[in-house]
Amino acid sequence: MITLHDLQFTPFIAEDKITKAIDDLADKLNEDLTGQKPVFLGILNGSFMFASEVVKRFNDDCEVSFVKLASYSGTETTNEVKELIGLQEDVKGRTIVILEDIVDTGNTIEELLKILKDKGCGEVKVATLFFKPEAYTKENHIDYIGMEIPNKFIVGYGLDYDGLGRNLTDVYQLKSNNMTNLVLFGPPGAGKGTQAEVLKEKYDLVHISTGDVFRYNIKNATELGTLAKSYIDKGQLVPDEVTIDMLNAEVDKNPDAKGFIFDGFPRTEAQAESLGELLSSKGSEVSAMVALEVDDEVLVQRLLERGKTSGRADDADESVIRNRIKVYYDETAILKNYYQKQDKYFGVDGVGGIAEITDRLSTVIDSL
Ligand code: AMP
Repeated sequence: MITLHDLQFTPFIAEDKITKAIDDLADKLNEDLTGQKPVFLGILNGSFMFASEVVKRFNDDCEVSFVKLASYSGTETTNEVKELIGLQEDVKGRTIVILEDIVDTGNTIEELLKILKDKGCGEVKVATLFFKPEAYTKENHIDYIGMEIPNKFIVGYGLDYDGLGRNLTDVYQLKSNNMTNLVLFGPPGAGKGTQAEVLKEKYDLVHISTGDVFRYNIKNATELGTLAKSYIDKGQLVPDEVTIDMLNAEVDKNPDAKGFIFDGFPRTEAQAESLGELLSSKGSEVSAMVALEVDDEVLVQRLLERGKTSGRADDADESVIRNRIKVYYDETAILKNYYQKQDKYFGVDGVGGIAEITDRLSTVIDSL
């Protein structure tokens, strides 16, 4: 996450994806415009980085110019009038390629096309790095689009927030601050499920337990359930691809959630990475990992006790229980380190009464 002035932004589009989009866009320009000696017209300030990348990839003769669109209030009319500043080239009859960093509502493009037509240009093409189809209100055809993006406020790669952020080589989106996303962590039997039920009511969050979703699928004999069962019965982890897809689908079922309690997820670094990407695509992030810390022997006793009533095969057999705890330490406990590095790890004593433990967790959550 980064801060520009008073606002926070989360990573959205990595530079390699942008580079790839520009490669493809430039290929098309080379195909269409070779031999036409086009004038590339970068619209300042935002397009300088994109313009440079496009021009570097154009293999034939061309000219490059940069212009600004300035607004002033006309004397006769109260309507805003736009003026093109900085165009020195004679563009009469020339093929022009407008280079924009982003096309949003399309107002700027519409003005530009009008002005260029008045100047007697030849063919005018529009190339933009980013395009927001949901925001676009005009009819003008956009000839070359690097990437379509949702209607979000973005910075980086030439785009700014109040002057800052243009130098960032990745693109970031405005963070929506209203989500609380908790990773409830701890070994099997630590009490994650019990606490999640209390916390979801208290903080109005959606509780997703990957273990519960797997068990629901096993009970209903779905394809996913059949696949997961063989691993779960042995106390092993279900493969990442399966678990990650399932988790993404569960999150997508709750588009209006104020936040989530992830219980039993992530359990591997790949899962943690993918959770970060998923939340980032929603302008959010993991707020904290809160971990219930409980001694191993207490865990074994708790799970054997639970197995008498839970009906869970993986609670009934002490060797399976011990394997789940071992898997936790071998494969999952590294995530403590992962979130600690981001200053997001909070350990909480998981031994005591239910209400007492809720209080300890709430102290952490209220401080976020
Ligand atoms: P739990 O109810 O969280 O103890 O999960 C029960 C079992 O479901 C685990 O022992 C795993 O076999 C499987 N499982 C649950 N969550 C995950 C996950 N995030 N990754 C892989 N396997 C999982």
